[in-house]
Amino acid sequence: MALARCEMHGKPVGQVSRFVQRTEPLGYPDSAILCPRAQCVHTAFVWLDEDDARNYAGGQRDFELPHNTEKVWVQ
Ligand SMILES: [Zn+2]
Repeated sequence: MALARCEMHGKPVGQVSRFVQRTEPLGYPDSAILCPRAQCVHTAFVWLDEDDARNYAGGQRDFELPHNTEKVWVQ
C-alpha cells in the first residue's frame, strides 16, 4: 500500500504497513496529488510500504492509494 503525504506531514505511521521509501509522483512538484490531511493543500510525495518498495525497485511505477485518502488538483 502507498500513502500520499506532503513534506510537512512527513512519513506516515501505518497501523498495518511500515512505510520505508518516499517517492515523487510523476511531474512533482507540479503533480496533482495532494496531501490528504485535513486542511492541507500541499503537493504530496508517495510513500511506499515494504512490498511496494520492492516492486518499485523492480521497475513498477503505478501504485494504489487507499480509498478516502486521496486529494487531487483539477483545472
Ligand atoms: Zn500535508
